[in-house]
Amino acid sequence: MYSLAQHKYIPRFHLQACKNHPPHHPSSPVFCSTTTTTSRDKPNPKPLVIEPWLVPVPPTVVTADNPRPMNNDPSLQSTWSHRAWVAAGCTTLLISLGESIKGAMDLNMWAEPILAGWVGYILADLGSGVYHWAIDNYGDASIPIVGTQIEAFQGHHKWPWTITKRQFANNLHALARAVTFTVLPIVLLCHDPIVEGFVGMCSGCIMFSQQFHAWSHGTKSRLPPLVVALQEAGVLVSRSQHAAHHRPPYNNNYCIVSGVWNEFLDKHKVFEALEMVLYFKTGVRPRSWSETASEWIEEIETPSQIQAQ
Ligand SMILES: [Zn+2]
Ligand SMILES: [Zn+2]
Repeated sequence: MYSLAQHKYIPRFHLQACKNHPPHHPSSPVFCSTTTTTSRDKPNPKPLVIEPWLVPVPPTVVTADNPRPMNNDPSLQSTWSHRAWVAAGCTTLLISLGESIKGAMDLNMWAEPILAGWVGYILADLGSGVYHWAIDNYGDASIPIVGTQIEAFQGHHKWPWTITKRQFANNLHALARAVTFTVLPIVLLCHDPIVEGFVGMCSGCIMFSQQFHAWSHGTKSRLPPLVVALQEAGVLVSRSQHAAHHRPPYNNNYCIVSGVWNEFLDKHKVFEALEMVLYFKTGVRPRSWSETASEWIEEIETPSQIQAQ
């Protein structure tokens, strides 16, 4: 099983930061440097140098340790534990939004809770982008609590299509559990309709962001018409916007609720600036600076492999 390596570019910010490296042109993938000498007796002391960062990465070879999930892979199926966490998360959301509506009715105050809910929806998109950027770029499977999410998102970049085969509760259970633990105490302690409107919408959009993400990988003809309409209206993240996230240089379009923040964050290089700050403070390089690493590159299936499923 193998894949086709995609075209490689140098990460933009990294290029700017590394002044020792000359600009890269895609048509000149190997850089050779020579030094001339004026003396015939003195040989050139510097051998030809092939810059390793300009050498194309060979196609990714999938070994037994790195298997491609099959359509009926158990890791894509929902378990009763997944369903229970999604039920707990949905119950939490219903309590929050229900109490917000009840409070609004009791106080005859509708504008503020609705505005708070809208702000929650807008900020959920920003939150999804920050979280997605963080787990795409930092940490590994050994990190407590979020390690499995980091591993799952790295696997997602290798096999993006598997998210469309993942069952609903399997896809949402991790965020549903986080929502239950963090939001339920707030909902039980606070009975302000404005706060509950904000918390209910924000946490609901974050919990369902993985479903919106899965829809952004769907094909138009197979998605429900309402989902396509919401994607095209910009209410949910669009398929074209998220497709750009899965192409080099793999460092943009991180937001997966509505995608409304993507243009602003990418235009102002917000995440690239954060990466530079973290690099100079801690010395840790984000994974997006190593975009030619195999974990970013999608494995392409051959027709025979698709038929074999
Ligand atoms: Zn990603
Ligand atoms: Zn994706």
